[in-house]
Amino acid sequence: MSKRPIFVTQPFLPPLEEFTPYLEKIWESKILTNGGPFHQQLEEALCEYLGVKHISLFTNGTIALITALQALRITGEVITTPYSFVATSHALLWNGIKPVFVDINPDTLNLDPNKIESAITPQTTAILPVHCYGHPCNVKSIQNIADLYNLKVIYDAAHAFGVEDTGGSILRHGDLSVLSFHATKVFTTFEGGAIVCPNAKTKQHIDHLKNFGFVDEMTVVMPGINGKMSEINAALGLLQLQHIDKTIAHRREVDRLYRKRLEGVKGIRCLHDTGESVANHAYFPILIGPDYPLTRDELYQKLKNRGVQPRRYFYPLISDFPMYRGIPSAHRDNLPVADNIAHKVLCLPIYPDLEMAVVEEIAQLIVLQTN
Ligand SMILES: *Cc1c(COP(=O)(O)O)cnc(C)c1O
Repeated sequence: MSKRPIFVTQPFLPPLEEFTPYLEKIWESKILTNGGPFHQQLEEALCEYLGVKHISLFTNGTIALITALQALRITGEVITTPYSFVATSHALLWNGIKPVFVDINPDTLNLDPNKIESAITPQTTAILPVHCYGHPCNVKSIQNIADLYNLKVIYDAAHAFGVEDTGGSILRHGDLSVLSFHATKVFTTFEGGAIVCPNAKTKQHIDHLKNFGFVDEMTVVMPGINGKMSEINAALGLLQLQHIDKTIAHRREVDRLYRKRLEGVKGIRCLHDTGESVANHAYFPILIGPDYPLTRDELYQKLKNRGVQPRRYFYPLISDFPMYRGIPSAHRDNLPVADNIAHKVLCLPIYPDLEMAVVEEIAQLIVLQTN
């Protein structure tokens, strides 16, 4: 294996000289933030690339999530998944909302729609599902339940940049969808995020919310926050966007090779046969079953010893962290599928610069243990 550790992900950085013209423009104009020209351009470019109507850029995905909940005035209890990055539930706590954890479906690893209804109480105001690993939720069933009980739906779409179902962007579903452009994500502005809005009025409301509540120089109409994306980050996004198709195409190749080598290997299960949807190959999760000669953690250690650093996303479950543990719905008996998957999952390295020879080596290491 290579001398440097192979991380689970690594950002794609275009040649530095491609960024210079953007920097020169910022230096020339001295416009650094507050919805400058690059901010404006990136919002437009993303709407076009993603095939959505309205986007509001943010400083990061977590502030975007917190603001999305504010924008819809969500209170009380919100139904969400324990199988995600901890920011999903943290955004609820930051709004004084009580998370109610519902188990996941064992194939999609997303919120199981069949288990949502029994978790609804008179305090429930919304559902906060995650398109985990960029794999679409069962949006139709979730919307049906939301309609029936008059609940809002906010999708944590942090993994789902560029993902489509047969009708178009997965981001068009629900009341709002939230993206993250963190350095570890498929599309990155180093730090960044966005809210996808269904109409201009909602976008304007969110634009005010992310700028302290200012609607003009003298008028503050709500207790907003500072969630603005800077011009540097927006420029990085514009540059990333020029390379995004190429980088996702390479991810797809890595995905195909892992699948070719690992599918059918005893005790290993590859997830997410993408079917009809357009995938972004953000992650390559595998499940290590009891038929595999090593436990998940033994395989994890073995790979680490060989310079490969896979990640156990999402272990521990959000519901196992101390600030959530005491909530009744966080109990493991309520979340048997999520608990089971969290103990089996391993996310293998997948990123734009990952060499195919290294992918072969990683796959061989995993196969070798079975001989
Ligand atoms: C990355 C991530 C976030 C947080 O996004 P940041 O931009 O890092 O704040 C939220 N939810 C999920 C599922 C994520 O993976």
